[in-house]
Amino acid sequence: MVTEQQVARALEHVRLPASGQTLAASGRLSEIVVSGDKVMVAIAIDATEAAAMEPVRLAAQSAISGLPGVGQVFVSLTADRPQSKAAPSPRPQVTPGRPQQAPSPKAAMIPGVRHVIAIASGKGGVGKSTTACNLALALASQGLKIGILDADIYGPSLPKLFGLHGKPRVIEGRTLAPLEGFGVKVMSIGFMVDEETPMIWRGPMVMSAITQMLREVAWGDLDVLVVDMPPGTGDAQLTMAQATPLAGAVIVSTPQDLALIDARRGVAMFRKTEVPILGIVENMSYFIAPDTGKRYDIFGHGGARREADRLGVPFLGEVPLDMNLRERSDTGQPIVATEPDGPQAQVYQEMARLVWASLAGDGPVKMRTPPRIIFE
Ligand code: ADP
Repeated sequence: MVTEQQVARALEHVRLPASGQTLAASGRLSEIVVSGDKVMVAIAIDATEAAAMEPVRLAAQSAISGLPGVGQVFVSLTADRPQSKAAPSPRPQVTPGRPQQAPSPKAAMIPGVRHVIAIASGKGGVGKSTTACNLALALASQGLKIGILDADIYGPSLPKLFGLHGKPRVIEGRTLAPLEGFGVKVMSIGFMVDEETPMIWRGPMVMSAITQMLREVAWGDLDVLVVDMPPGTGDAQLTMAQATPLAGAVIVSTPQDLALIDARRGVAMFRKTEVPILGIVENMSYFIAPDTGKRYDIFGHGGARREADRLGVPFLGEVPLDMNLRERSDTGQPIVATEPDGPQAQVYQEMARLVWASLAGDGPVKMRTPPRIIFE
């Protein structure tokens, strides 16, 4: 198997065209991550340099590909944020020769933020972001100060859900002002990366981007910061769960068995990191035909409630599969803010009450000993 040292040596010959410096000397190289025959490395750039740095990326890619024992090579150009006059140029955290660093298990709190909660799902497309958005709005409508952070760096959807566009303002140094939608402070990588510029985020760079969005944003005083996590329960999610000072996690699932297996992994992942499970939400639980009012249990409704009982965690509610909800989500008119008295909004309101009760200490987080789960 190829080693990080061999990769570093292969990269010694790659130079930056402008300065003639080697990549390593330029301080732009991230940690080198070797996993089996896959090699991943990121080069930090300013967003404006994407085209100029492409030949460097290709040269690094071909230098690594030439090593014996190497299968796939991922070299990405990564911009922490677009270049701004007030902000220093981005630098990746370089720890030469060290493999991926284990995060500290107890992440530091964010000043002014009382509770950070994660909205997670075992896989994509189950409605995690929709839940995060509407839960945040429901908490805000109950008089709480709420922020929401889009940590789903591979597919940021909060700008669309909140109907927000534009770049966050730099307040001072590297600190950014969050945008605001329907009374909730919103930060997303989607605000900072130009949709037209292809940026690939990998491994360690993802962590540094999330850390910045957590800590270099002027969140102010918040009762709850809701974090929309990337889908899945792999190493990246585990690392992020550990690097974020989480007070609890909400797991979103659809009712069918396969989604529930993923949800179970989600519960196991947070338990492994000793993050309390605030509960499970069943999304796309059932469908009411708008013309006849007839109810259809498309995915066999009720599975998530049973799973929550089995795992000994609270059940937070059933959100129907609803065309109006989807259309509003897709047009930046989230249902809790724009149809607050409708039946869907009520489901999120109840979810918010349960979550807040847990956070405030008198909630339904079940205290019985969780069953032992073998982490696959
Ligand atoms: P995830 O964050 O899990 O990938 P999203 O929240 O982005 O999922 O939802 C995926 C798609 O499903 C979006 O188009 C969203 O509008 C739609 N969707 C989510 N929940 C519902 C629901 N309860 N009813 C109808 N459409 C939904």
